[in-house]
Amino acid sequence: MAEPRMNFTLKCSVCNMENYISTKNKKTNPGKFEKKKYCPRCNKHTLHVEIKK
Ligand SMILES: [Zn+2]
Repeated sequence: MAEPRMNFTLKCSVCNMENYISTKNKKTNPGKFEKKKYCPRCNKHTLHVEIKK
């Protein structure tokens, strides 16, 4: 069986723009993913949060 990887989208928590798509291993990262990343709309680094599709 394939690895339990799942796709998820990271959106800017300030302007809600969806900026990044990534994958993670459900087993090792069961919680909500949050990371500071660059947002082109805000033109700065903001907190990006995982959104479920
Ligand atoms: Zn933004």
